[in-house]
Amino acid sequence: MPTATDASTSPATTLINPADETVLRTIEHVTVEGVDDAVARAVAAQKRWAGLAPVERANALRRFATLVETAIEELARIEVANSGHPITQARWEAGHVRDVLNYYSAAPERMIGKQIPVAGGIDLTFLEPLGVVGVIVPWNFPMTIAAWGFVPALAAGNAVVLKPAEWTPLTALRLAELGLESGLPEGLFQVLPGRGSVVGTRFVTNESVRKIVFTGSTAVGKQVMAGCADQVKAVTLELGGKSANVIFADSDLEKAAATAPSAVFENAGQDCCARSRILVERSVYDRFLELLEPAVKGVKVGLPGDESTEMGPLVAKAHFEKVSSYVDDESRVAFRGSAPGGAGYWFAPTVLLPASRTDRTVTEEIFGPVVTVLPFDGEADAITLANDSIYGLSGSIWTRDLGRAIRVSRGIETGNLSVNSHSSVRYSTPFGGFKQSGLGRELGPDAAAAFTETKNVFISHD
Ligand code: NAD
Repeated sequence: MPTATDASTSPATTLINPADETVLRTIEHVTVEGVDDAVARAVAAQKRWAGLAPVERANALRRFATLVETAIEELARIEVANSGHPITQARWEAGHVRDVLNYYSAAPERMIGKQIPVAGGIDLTFLEPLGVVGVIVPWNFPMTIAAWGFVPALAAGNAVVLKPAEWTPLTALRLAELGLESGLPEGLFQVLPGRGSVVGTRFVTNESVRKIVFTGSTAVGKQVMAGCADQVKAVTLELGGKSANVIFADSDLEKAAATAPSAVFENAGQDCCARSRILVERSVYDRFLELLEPAVKGVKVGLPGDESTEMGPLVAKAHFEKVSSYVDDESRVAFRGSAPGGAGYWFAPTVLLPASRTDRTVTEEIFGPVVTVLPFDGEADAITLANDSIYGLSGSIWTRDLGRAIRVSRGIETGNLSVNSHSSVRYSTPFGGFKQSGLGRELGPDAAAAFTETKNVFISHD
C-alpha cells in the first residue's frame, strides 16, 4: 500500500478549466494518515447519528436538501468551470442531488424489518447500519454519482467518507460544507480529495470502512473488488459501458435519428450509459445515416457557460488524447459535427462506420463523443450483436412492434433499457450493470437497504 511519503504520490492536483485551459486552483491531497483520522472521526459520528430518532435523521436530510436547493446555481457554476459541463446540464445535476436527498429523507423512518412466524416465541429482523461507508467517485458526473452513494448510505444510518476524482473534486467538497451547514454531525460526511492509489486504496484496506461503493473504470473496479475480498468487505461496483442503440426498420426512424446524438454525445460522451454503438436493421441502414448526419451536425458544441450549449469540451488533456487515439485515418469517419478551435479540450461529435464488428472502436469504451454505426439482419442478430460486449449497462430499442420490444428487452443482457426513448437515470428506479459493467444496484426504493446488514433476533416467550 502506498504511504503518504510514497515518491509516486504528488501532494496536490492543479485543476484546469477544460474549456480554456486556465488554472482554477490547487487542491491538497489527503494522505493515508489523513484518511485514517477521518475514518476514526466517522466511526464516532456514526454512533451519534444512528442513536438519533429516525425522524431526526429524516429531518436532517431534508434540511440538507433545502440548502442544496438554495445552492443549485453555485454548484452548477462550479461544475461548469471544473468539468466543462454545459450550464443547463449542471443545473439539472445539482437539482438531482437535491431530489436524491429528498427521496431518501423518507428512508430513516421506513427501515422496516420483518416479523417471521416461528415456534416458541417471536422472530424479528432489523436492518442495522454497516458503520462507515467509503464512496469512490469518477470525474464524469461528480455531483450526481457522489449523491447516489452518500445519500442512501447516510439515510440507512451510516457515516460516509467520499473520495472525488482527482480532476473534479470541487462540487463534492462544497456538498460536504453544505451538509455541515445544514446540521449534520461533524465527521458524518467527509470528502477526502486525493489519489486513487492512496485515498481510494486506504478506504479499501482500512478495516473500519465496512463497504465500498466504487464507480469508475472496470480495470480499477476489479482491483477494488480484489482488495475488498481480503476483508470480505461489501462492495458495489458501477463500471464501464458500451451500450447499444438498436434501431429496427419498423421504428419511427426520424425520431430515432433525431435523438441518437443526445443519447451518446451528452456530457461529450463521457457517460457510462452512452449509447455508443448504434445498430441499425440493414434495410434502413442507408436511410438512417442520411437522417443522422444533420442531427449530428446540429449538436451545439460550445462554451459550457452559454445557455444554448448542448455539448462542452472533454474533461482533461490526457482524456482528450485517449479519445483522439480512436479516430485516425483507419477509423472510417462517416461525418463529424463541429467544435470550437483554440484553447480547451474540444472534440467534435464523430460518427464512425467500422470495418468489422470486432474493431476496437466497437468493442472498447471510448468515453468521448464518438459513435459507431453497424448494420444487423433481423431480431436474433440484433440481440447477438447487442450482447457481443464484455459490458451490459444501458441501451435503447426502437420498434413499433410491442412483442418485439418485449422479446428484445428480455434478450439483451443489460441493466437499464429504454424502448422508443433514451431515458436517463431516475433516482426512483434501480440502476446498475450486467457482466463487467458492475455488481449490485444503486438508486430506487431498495438503495438504503443495501447499506445495512440484516440481523435476525429470536425472543423466546418462555
Ligand atoms: P477510474 O477508474 O480511473 O477512477 C474512478 C475513481 O477511482 C477515481 O476517484 C480514482 O481516483 C479512483 N481510483 C483510481 N485508482 C484506484 C485504486 N487503485 N483504488 C481505489 N480507487 C482508485 O475511472 P474514471 O476515469 O474516473 O471514470 C471513468 C469510468 O467510470 C468509465 O469507465 C465509466 O464508464 C465509469 N463510470 C461508470 C458509471 C456507472 O454507474 N456504471 C458511472 C460513471 C462512470
